[in-house]
Amino acid sequence: MNTPDASLSATDRTNLEALARAIERDRDVLFITGAGLSADSGLPTYRGVGGLYEGTATASGMSIEEALHIDTFKRRPHLTWHHIRAIADACAGAHPNRGHHVIAAMEQSLDRVVVLTQNVDGFHHKAGSQNVIQMHGNLERLACTTCGWSAKAPPLDTLPPVPRCPVCASIARPPVVLFGEALPADAVQTYEAELARGFSAVVSVGTSSLFPYISAPVQVVQAAGGLAAEINPSSTAVSRSRLACRLASARGDFRERRALGGRLALG
Ligand SMILES: [Zn+2]
Repeated sequence: MNTPDASLSATDRTNLEALARAIERDRDVLFITGAGLSADSGLPTYRGVGGLYEGTATASGMSIEEALHIDTFKRRPHLTWHHIRAIADACAGAHPNRGHHVIAAMEQSLDRVVVLTQNVDGFHHKAGSQNVIQMHGNLERLACTTCGWSAKAPPLDTLPPVPRCPVCASIARPPVVLFGEALPADAVQTYEAELARGFSAVVSVGTSSLFPYISAPVQVVQAAGGLAAEINPSSTAVSRSRLACRLASARGDFRERRALGGRLALG
């Protein structure tokens, strides 16, 4: 596909092409992705798990932050499960978009591509990416809250309102990060190890960069002389940084371009 994209401004188009060339040159790339990328798949823009309902109250009158809080899950698991199911339903009807697929294809053509995502939809994996760090967990598995049992999750609408562990009958849940919970230790450890190896380029896509673990790598790569870019319709915490380029109108809608030799680029 090499057709002009009417949604891109002339400036963004120029920047996007420059970014594509730079990424082909830089062989170690970190992509940081948030809800804006999956918004192109039709998912609502949300902040982590709870942001699906950001700024709105639930039917019970409880804020979504409260309904999806670990303390509520412990006291009223059926309520938290109701909202987890709603998020899973939204994801179930959607598919990875071109942005996910282009990032996955880059993993094949560049030396090292790592994806750090805040999204729980599993779309990076579905698109074929292997090196994905899911900082807010995922909806793809179920785990026991007591005994350590874990398995691939069946469609959540096939499960009882509050699913139980088949081994010990304790309550089960997907390994998503609820409000009030720490980030998963294994994901943090993997991320830190990847950052320690360093990246020659970092591209932040569709995230508001509210958290230091999201914004810090942009500054770290910049300080080391690498390329930092942001693709987001809104100004964010990293927008004030000295970015190599910033695409305001592109959001996550990468366009795939197969140039001579089958190279993959953005443009
Ligand atoms: Zn169990």
